[in-house]
Amino acid sequence: MVSKKRLLINFLSPFALGIMSLKKRGKRENDKLIILAYHGIDDVDLEKYPLSNGNITATTDQFEAQLKLIKRNFNVLTFKKLHEEYLLEGRFPERGLIITFDDGYRNNYTHAFPILKKYNLPATIFLATEYIDSNKKFWFDELCFKIFQSEKESLGFAIEDKLYSFDISDYKAKRDSDLKVKRILKKISNRERLKILNEIYLNLEPIKVDKEQKRYVLNWDEIKEMSENGIEFGSHAKSHPILSKQTYNEVKNEIFDSKKDIEERLGECIVFSYPNGGKSDFGEREMCLLKEAGYKYAVNYIQSNNNKAILNYYSLNRLHVELEVDIKQFQTGLIWPKMMF
Ligand SMILES: [Zn+2]
Repeated sequence: MVSKKRLLINFLSPFALGIMSLKKRGKRENDKLIILAYHGIDDVDLEKYPLSNGNITATTDQFEAQLKLIKRNFNVLTFKKLHEEYLLEGRFPERGLIITFDDGYRNNYTHAFPILKKYNLPATIFLATEYIDSNKKFWFDELCFKIFQSEKESLGFAIEDKLYSFDISDYKAKRDSDLKVKRILKKISNRERLKILNEIYLNLEPIKVDKEQKRYVLNWDEIKEMSENGIEFGSHAKSHPILSKQTYNEVKNEIFDSKKDIEERLGECIVFSYPNGGKSDFGEREMCLLKEAGYKYAVNYIQSNNNKAILNYYSLNRLHVELEVDIKQFQTGLIWPKMMF
């Protein structure tokens, strides 16, 4: 059965194109800045993909179709350009759109970068700098990877006096439990999260060895090459913690040190992306520290466009693109963000 939402998308998508065309001809006000949020771009078989499936946000075909639409209808910017050519001059970009990627997956270089080059479009990649040049997986990917390696039937841990137990006896149970465990770990203090992750890894006793030692995260050579070819880099903290669950000093280190890491290699880092980026994942404390460190902008992960009249430089909203989003939904979501989910 076709869902109500799908019917609405089918109905609205031609109007979305119409609005884009009116804006292009200056017949409708350009009072929005759109920032897209991607993670990985890849053509993997999801059943065999050993990391969280949610990390693949578009196939290369989907991404290319999306870029074609963007190229035709928007003025694609970086944060540096937004800053120097527009906001600093008291101007607001017409049909402004920024393409961003969180985390720094290697497929941003192998799969997204060639397509961005083909269409001559810039983008901004947010790096969790501690993982760059290492063979480490992001903590949320490591958890998923180890759950899939384990031959145990269940996974359990305790937070204070509350016991948690999850079924990991088959493929579907593993996928479901991985998501549930992550949801819980994102709510507790950073220190406790690291402690529980260690306990979980010991209990899972993964017996298969990661023979491939495949690298899923970018290295500095790839980053430098992209940086010399129109790609901008920002910080996504060092270790990808949930900042609001950390102590003041821990947050300060994450914000300052990651900026330094990027500046030492690339010369500049003016924008930050809050890990996880939901309403409860950052606040005034983080925004003040970002200003103190010298960042000019920060992006969240709250599904919305940015209105010219209420632009918060340290909490810019983004539209997250997911693998399930087809081109009709994409074009409708650019105009009506709630349709992008
Ligand atoms: Zn992230």
